[in-house]
Amino acid sequence: MVQNHDYKQARERMVKTQLIPRGITDPRVLAAMRKVPRHLFVEEALRGEAYNDHPLPIGHKQTISQPYIVALMTQALELKGDEHVLEIGTGSGYQTAILAELSEKVYTVERIRPLLEKARKTLWELGYTNILFKAFDGTLGWKEYAPFDAIIVTAGAPKIPQPLLDQLAEGGRLVIPVGGRFSQDLVKVTKKNGHIIQKDLGGCRFVDLVGVHGWKE
Ligand code: SAH
Repeated sequence: MVQNHDYKQARERMVKTQLIPRGITDPRVLAAMRKVPRHLFVEEALRGEAYNDHPLPIGHKQTISQPYIVALMTQALELKGDEHVLEIGTGSGYQTAILAELSEKVYTVERIRPLLEKARKTLWELGYTNILFKAFDGTLGWKEYAPFDAIIVTAGAPKIPQPLLDQLAEGGRLVIPVGGRFSQDLVKVTKKNGHIIQKDLGGCRFVDLVGVHGWKE
């Protein structure tokens, strides 16, 4: 039987061997990665692998992202604690928990309802109260609560969905994998004086962003 303190050690090891050596330096991001029990976001049979350096299946042909990618994307959002953050692709809810640790409010959107409901339950059981959930096509954003200080998309897009650019606040950051179906570049967009500045954060591989402004099914 694996004990909770073994998982704590596994998280510490993950931070020391996978995150810090690759340039994750934001102390708040590292603290959140040390804190959130990633093993509770995967099925029981996979818990022993939860802190390994790769993604894992979560059902419905979707995956929970590799810890390093979660940390890299989160660090790029430059969260200080008072932001309203839009997340597209709730999946397991793990990235959602990291965002909820680091910001004021998280608005998370997932197109596969059973995944959304499972994530909602996991996050509720962990005590998070600053998250709003919606089963919807996230390529359209979440207009009612726009603009957002930060937007994160955890599925690969053919191009940046225009509604997300429109719903990004002045000074806001958007992080999204953009490219082909089998590999993408992680792109960070910053809105300054109404202009869009793009920065490439490196190669990555995500499942498809499916929707009106994404891939067709
Ligand atoms: N951050 C998640 C990653 C889940 S994988 C985690 O760490 O567990 C990407 C998720 O994006 C999948 O659950 C998929 O169903 C979802 N997705 C794909 N296209 C979407 C869209 N248009 N709107 C909302 N969610 C979408």
